Order: sequence, then C-alpha cells, then structure tokens
Amino acid sequence: MDEFPCTKCGLCCKHVGDVLSQNSIEYKTSPTVIKDLINSFPYKVNEDGSCSMLTEEGLCKVYENRPIICNVRLGAKLLNIPLKDWYKDRAKGCNDLIRKAGLSNDYLVQIEETSEKINKITDQSSKLLNQGKSSKNFKKRIKNHRPK
Ligand code: SF4
Ligand code: SF4
Repeated sequence: MDEFPCTKCGLCCKHVGDVLSQNSIEYKTSPTVIKDLINSFPYKVNEDGSCSMLTEEGLCKVYENRPIICNVRLGAKLLNIPLKDWYKDRAKGCNDLIRKAGLSNDYLVQIEETSEKINKITDQSSKLLNQGKSSKNFKKRIKNHRPK
C-alpha cells in the first residue's frame, strides 16, 4: 500500500467547503498545524461547497501539486503519527462520507494491515516534510501547495 487507497468517490473534493469550515467540530478540534493548512487552502470553493479544481469527471486539476491538506500520505508525518493509524483515521472519514451519500459499498476504503512498504513510505514522507520545514518559506510553500 504505497498510497492511501482512495476509491476516487470524489466526495471530499465535492464537500471541501465543509472540510474547510472553521465552524466544524473537526476544525475546532484539529491541531494548529492542520488549521494552518486549512486556512491557507489556495483555491476557490464553489457555492455548492465543491472545490473549483475538481473536474466534471471527478478528477483534481492540480493533483500532482495539490495542497498538503489534500495529500493523505503527507498528513501522517505532519502530525507525527504512524502512517497506518492515519490511513485508518482518514478511511473512517471517507467511509462516513460515502455511507452518508448513499454510494455503493464498492467505494468504501479498505486499509490493509502493516507492511514494510508503509514504513518505507513514512520515511519518504518524513524526508519530504523535513525539506519543507527546513525552508524559511515553509508557510509560503504550503500556501503555494508545492510539497515536492
Ligand atoms: S472521500 Fe476518500 S475515497 Fe473519496 S475521493 Fe476523497 S480521499 Fe478518496
Ligand atoms: S485541490 Fe484537488 S484534491 Fe484538493 S479539494 Fe481541490 S480538487 Fe480535491
């Protein structure tokens, strides 16, 4: 499991307005580092709550350079928690959305058990984030969503 096993339901991008809401319980209970990422989300949110970078086909126009808040893999290291635990936490959020929207169970996110690959990816994420943190312009880089 190299990447988060996103099933591409598109719901998080369709409801990004909720994710970014400063009135949500999730926002209020998030650590500062996550709040900073939410507050610096660089794209317009449409009136229906969807992200302006979402195509009609349900794809992200800026996927390769998407904001860190949209990159599940990097989130684990940012919060300094094991990748598997973070994936499980995110999968629960996805599956809550999927069930609430009444989508097919085929979209439910399944997390495999620990593998060596997860640890390897954690190391890779660490390297990426350390590169970003060592920069004086870390906040600027986050805002400009260029994690690499
Ligand atoms: S809600 Fe989860 S499964 Fe659906 S597109 Fe977003 S990350 Fe992927
Ligand atoms: S930037 Fe891309 S991944 Fe992030 S919410 Fe918008 S469409 Fe989704």
